[in-house]
Amino acid sequence: MISYGKQSIDQSDIDCVIEVLKSDWLTQGPAVELFESHLKEYFGSNHACVVSNGTAALHLVGLALGWQKDDIIITTPITFLSTANSILFSGSQPDFADIDHCSYTIDPNLVEEKIKLHISRGKQVKAVIGMDYAGHPCDWKSLRILADKYGFKLINDNCHALGASYYGNFHYAVKYADVVTQSFHPVKNITTGEGGAILTNDFEIIEKVKSLRTHGINKNVKEYSKNEGPWYYEMVELGYNYRITDFQCALGINQLKKLNHFIEKRREIAFKYDESFLDNDNLTIPKSDNDIKHAYHIYPLKIDFSEIKVSKRTFFNKLLSLGIRLQVHYIPVHLQPYYQTNYNFKPGDFPVAEDFYAKEVSIPMFYNLTNDQLSFVIDSIKTNIK
Ligand SMILES: *Cc1c(COP(=O)(O)O)cnc(C)c1O
Repeated sequence: MISYGKQSIDQSDIDCVIEVLKSDWLTQGPAVELFESHLKEYFGSNHACVVSNGTAALHLVGLALGWQKDDIIITTPITFLSTANSILFSGSQPDFADIDHCSYTIDPNLVEEKIKLHISRGKQVKAVIGMDYAGHPCDWKSLRILADKYGFKLINDNCHALGASYYGNFHYAVKYADVVTQSFHPVKNITTGEGGAILTNDFEIIEKVKSLRTHGINKNVKEYSKNEGPWYYEMVELGYNYRITDFQCALGINQLKKLNHFIEKRREIAFKYDESFLDNDNLTIPKSDNDIKHAYHIYPLKIDFSEIKVSKRTFFNKLLSLGIRLQVHYIPVHLQPYYQTNYNFKPGDFPVAEDFYAKEVSIPMFYNLTNDQLSFVIDSIKTNIK
């Protein structure tokens, strides 16, 4: 079965993990800080905090930014549940702005419309979470201008775009957003099994997330209210156990070294797909302009199912029977029963996202995809849209 995404693990990854397993530290040891320092360098950020997964990273960001009940946070409907759920974790009010029909990322003009609407109701938007869908950066220049104009915090849920660049800048994520989150789930561009990270130039945010990662325990002896002895520690706020292990971090360090190489392969696959599907009127390939370097976490192909008179379900099952497991990214979050029931969203609220959902399929995109598999996928798609 050829899946839409898969990790790539080689002997050097295995050796790095074994080395840590034989050491004194399985968790809370030196590999954690080392992974953080490599991530800081890669992202050009002053600070980094690695955590147990990308959802935990988003949760801690909301807590560190002090989101409260009734705060309004805007994100894109075309994202994984975690992005929007991180708003609910804080009891805040989720809202969405529709996507741009070319880049499939949140449309800054519609973000501004939403902000004005909330202002007209006497409410303020506290934060906007952009998501670099499929590995295509959002329009960060426009989002930054809006953040400064209306005074909200800007978050980049960058889980798809590790390895992307924006106007030639590989450090764009931390440059434009106040906080950036990552996930290292096996389908992502690099993996630690489960894992995530928070990157920022803001010292207060990083102090806060590092404390909340480990139960809200203050590690700074100088700040203790008293000191009863060498065993003493103080909990000063309510935190969690969102730590990641040292052997996962060792894997992350080794994977990060291979990231650029991984991305080159993903781009080769994407160009092959582009070339194969470009001149078919019923297919739309993902946009990749010269001003960005697309990281191709996924390859979202739009198929005009109403034109080809084959349903998405039939197409999906046909490819499954051929041994190709496609995926769909994503069911628009506002259409989830939980969001419709509890937050009054309804079909039709975000028409560009809904049209995108009707057409999008994510086709196989991973480092170890062979040329034979690639040709087979292309042929299978072409034969089944006729
Ligand atoms: C994968 C992903 C997450 C969640 O990451 P986990 O590590 O699986 O918790 C959040 N947002 C986006 C956009 C993702 O793709």
